[in-house]
Amino acid sequence: MADLISIAEAQRLVLERTKALDAERVPIERASGRVLAEPATAVVDLPPFPSSAMDGYALRSGDTGDAPVTLPVVERIAAGRPASRALRAGEAMAIATGGAVPAGADAVIQLENVEETEAGLVVSEPVPTGTNVRGRGGDVRAGDGVLEAGVRLGAAQVAALAAAGITEVRCTKRPRVGILVTGSELRPPGEQLREGEIYESNGLLLATALGAAGAVPAQLGIVADDPEEHRRTMERALLGFDMLVTSGGASVGPHDLVREVQRELRVEEVFWGVAVKPGKPVAFGVRRDHLVFNLPGNPVSVLVTFELFVRPAVNALLGVPDPLPAFQQGTLAAAVRRNPHRDELLRAVVKRDNETLALDPLPGQDSHMIVRAGQATALVLVEAGEGEVPAGATVSFLSLS
Ligand code: AMP
Ligand code: MG
Repeated sequence: MADLISIAEAQRLVLERTKALDAERVPIERASGRVLAEPATAVVDLPPFPSSAMDGYALRSGDTGDAPVTLPVVERIAAGRPASRALRAGEAMAIATGGAVPAGADAVIQLENVEETEAGLVVSEPVPTGTNVRGRGGDVRAGDGVLEAGVRLGAAQVAALAAAGITEVRCTKRPRVGILVTGSELRPPGEQLREGEIYESNGLLLATALGAAGAVPAQLGIVADDPEEHRRTMERALLGFDMLVTSGGASVGPHDLVREVQRELRVEEVFWGVAVKPGKPVAFGVRRDHLVFNLPGNPVSVLVTFELFVRPAVNALLGVPDPLPAFQQGTLAAAVRRNPHRDELLRAVVKRDNETLALDPLPGQDSHMIVRAGQATALVLVEAGEGEVPAGATVSFLSLS
């Protein structure tokens, strides 16, 4: 592994080979977390009619110019129950929030600002035109854009679609991702550990992270360090999925078989070896339009290389316009030594400290320490170089929460 490439170069190579998947129609009640493949356009005006912003009385502004005036209350309008006729000069109608402002009315006076007596509604001040009236189409007009292509649909976005009369949207298909973990020492959680075995944790890490990123993960099981078993399972996995993610067996040991078997299976290796700690032996390849990531075996390396390389690929498959990790700025709470050759991603706890976000690196930064990493809420980027980064320095970090 002579020539390590930079994180940025590796990301560039991943994105260069990753195209957005096809689109499919999705009902809005199942569109949460999906990414729009084309813009969504309003079907109705919103609001669909002039509606009242307050509980109060609909009236004509012109009738209140010589306030105080007393106006007879001729109808009571509720939300969803409009007036039976237009409002005439000199009249008022009681109206609830969300009620349709009747034809002829151009203002609503708030309940709290008037008094209704036997004689009618006593208005003591002139009410300007438009007061407390939500204009038809004030939020959006039928035919206008609601959301752009590439937007991920969260709570506010699906509500916007529903309100604008849209029932179905075109979204990119969710990437189907096969997960293969390699290692003869791995035992599924729940079983009894034998001498030399550890519990398998990368499969669940990847399935959880992939699901949250918008992919459809499938755990394909544990592959023993045996060439024949590698060949059989990888061949099958390459066929059925948009992306294959492996863990372990991608380094230089005699039992690291993943890359060799992939070569036999005609996977084109795009890169192997990135100047990052942890995660150096990460590899990326393609076979036709199937993407293959070979992540190292250590669980913290999986966490880091997922964020740096796999999540951006999932984003790009989904058609997200800005697929790279969204680093934020914070302040380092304690000095850290730089690695001379590799950019490092330290596990840290992020805390709000007055105006800034303080990043406190956790003790136990070894790449097998997934339990320590489980305490972390951030990955702090410490760029390669000499000496140390002092406490108080501004650093970039990725939020893990
Ligand atoms: P490898 O890259 O296969 O040499 O694995 C590096 C280290 O990660 C070894 O200590 C493995 O036991 C460990 N490891 C590999 N795969 C997993 C896994 N799926 N879950 C937990 N630890 C793993
Ligand atoms: Mg191994």
